[in-house]
Amino acid sequence: MMPKNNRQFVKLLAAALVLTCLFSACRKVDPRPETPDVDIPEDPDVTYTYHTEVDEDILLTAGAGEYLILANKEHPLSKDHVPENLVEYSGKTYYEKEVMLEARVAQAVLSMTREMEADGISDLFVTSGYRSYTYQQRLFANYLASEMSGISTEAYAYFGEDYIAKNYTQKGLTKLNKTDATVVVKSYSAEAGYSEHQTGLCVDFITSTMSTLDRSFETSEAFAWLSENAYRFGFILRYPETKEEVTGYSYEPWHYRFVGREVATAIYFRGMTLEEFLAS
Ligand SMILES: [Zn+2]
Repeated sequence: MMPKNNRQFVKLLAAALVLTCLFSACRKVDPRPETPDVDIPEDPDVTYTYHTEVDEDILLTAGAGEYLILANKEHPLSKDHVPENLVEYSGKTYYEKEVMLEARVAQAVLSMTREMEADGISDLFVTSGYRSYTYQQRLFANYLASEMSGISTEAYAYFGEDYIAKNYTQKGLTKLNKTDATVVVKSYSAEAGYSEHQTGLCVDFITSTMSTLDRSFETSEAFAWLSENAYRFGFILRYPETKEEVTGYSYEPWHYRFVGREVATAIYFRGMTLEEFLAS
């Protein structure tokens, strides 16, 4: 039998442990980790050389945690999350559409594409940057309405012929129900709050021979160049092919996220994702 004082001490310790666990669990589900508590790595043994005039200051983000915001299926952004310094991207955009980006990111994309052009590759356009919560909401609602108006090839691909036959065609139904339609839409589009594009820190690239964002981007000269050089401008390939389990998204060779040169270099050479880096 423990002396009374000792028992009280054990009880206090247990209470303290429970409180600590609760507190750290709360912190883990913070939907907006604005300034993640990570050590920005020192530049590794990499020499950064540029052929064009590059303002290296804009590529560095040491101490600026807002460039490490995590927006994924487990960390949605709130409706009010709008990047502070949005500007219109002044470089080449797909069919000259207006693309908004966080100011530093806009400059970094411009630097990167200029350097690429200096290396002889000019077939590259930005097709998407910042997307607001309400834009994403509309986009998702449109996709949902479209999926519910029939049974699309995407629905067949997602559920398989047997499922569709059993639940729909054999019953004489020709339109997906809302539950199934939502599942299909989620397989190719993020719900409002869950898109990284709401951060204003990422871009989708496209080439003139593409009409939609698909895997063919992987065969472009621009993709080959980006694969070797994007980190020098602070960008990472956000959804790599082999990391679908970690990122929650299938492979997107066209989607690049700005995290600053220090972090991009660390992620590139360690073969990580942003999720893995922030947890390391
Ligand atoms: Zn994207």
